[in-house]
Amino acid sequence: MSADFLENTQYYVDKAAKALDLRPDVTKQLKTPHREVRVELNITMDDGSIGTFIGFRVQHDDARGPFKGGLRYHHHVDSEEVTALASLMTWKTAVAGVPYGGAKGGIAVDARKLSAGETQRLTRRFIDGIHDIIGATTDIPAPDVNTNGQVMAWIFDQYSKYHGYQPGVVTGKPVSLGGSIGREAATGRGAIYATEELLATLGESMEGKKIVVQGFGNVGTWAARDAVALGAKIVGIADISGGYVNPEGIDVEAAIQHVATNGTLEGYAAEKVSGEAILVHDCDILIPAALGGVLTKDNAADVKAKVIVEGANGPTTPEADEIFAKNGVHVIPDIYANCGGVTVSYFEWSQNMQHFYWELERVNNELRKVMKRGYASLVEVQKKHSCTMREAAFILGVGRVKDATEMRGL
Ligand code: NAD
Repeated sequence: MSADFLENTQYYVDKAAKALDLRPDVTKQLKTPHREVRVELNITMDDGSIGTFIGFRVQHDDARGPFKGGLRYHHHVDSEEVTALASLMTWKTAVAGVPYGGAKGGIAVDARKLSAGETQRLTRRFIDGIHDIIGATTDIPAPDVNTNGQVMAWIFDQYSKYHGYQPGVVTGKPVSLGGSIGREAATGRGAIYATEELLATLGESMEGKKIVVQGFGNVGTWAARDAVALGAKIVGIADISGGYVNPEGIDVEAAIQHVATNGTLEGYAAEKVSGEAILVHDCDILIPAALGGVLTKDNAADVKAKVIVEGANGPTTPEADEIFAKNGVHVIPDIYANCGGVTVSYFEWSQNMQHFYWELERVNNELRKVMKRGYASLVEVQKKHSCTMREAAFILGVGRVKDATEMRGL
């Protein structure tokens, strides 16, 4: 599965390299990660036993700026998955036009089984293991699946013990510790801005659209909230506990409250369906916002949505992508659709470097500009290469990284 994810990512890089007429040695250089670190993490568990876990940090490319990418705490985390996600970050930061490279990290652990104390000890141990390869001008982690502002605060604190006050070492921090207003909402919000761009080219808007959101964490909840604010109706949501549908519209705030109280959507007052059924539920727009590899050759033809917005990283396999292209389904690809997170991370980092903090309006306006500019660039590439939006995004990202690499020399 993780090996497939890496293979799928490389498939699009190879395709872009072909469209850009890159030499095989140049393509190989672009695909090869700069550094992969694996650390053993031992902590005392609450019951007094020793917990041993493995942490990863893969720094993929830094031709355009410091390595940048989230940290995921999940039992599927392994070297291949982290490498694929790190590579996606390289192309994503290039598509967004923010001055970063790509990295990713994670710990192989069932995060739901850890207490807050165990999560804190594990996070601090991880930073003990990687503090000398991260930093505000070298490699800047951020939140991803099962990590949040609290985890980023522990990272900032642990790193500061070695290197002094350096808020720019990590983004997605709580606002009280130098985080940016609007960062928590940014990935979901950016995905909705991206959707508005696409709909505008189709002469449509969010008003009245029926939406299904798979994954109801940071990205999914904010995408759902912003979609509702624009007049859309959320007809289905899903998390690890299953899918929940309501043709009259899910009360998003009540569902968020339910998760805050109960940990998951289990027991939420709506018709329950399976996690698989939610992906093929009747809707106009499908927002996968959980994990990778969920839209495959087995379910792609049954997807009812005409627009898919990849809040998650890598939710669609290349076979599914082909089916969507054939069926006229518009797929807004991950490396553009969810780049709002790293974009506002960039704003947070800039604010940390200047110790000058912005208002929410400025954050959202600047994010909107980046999403608009990104979309316009993708359309231009699509016209030139007659390709899907995903292929255009890879051509744009790979091309920009290649230019920077070439200018810097070996
Ligand atoms: P999160 O931990 O806040 O939420 C993940 C959600 O997915 C939870 O609701 C969880 O229950 C659900 N989930 C897990 N397994 C599932 C399954 N099998 N079926 C259905 N739902 C399932 O994570 P997040 O930060 O919202 O990240 C979600 C996705 O967005 C990931 O692919 C991540 O890489 C991507 N992403 C996140 C950010 C960010 O800023 N947080 C930025 C870019 C991309």
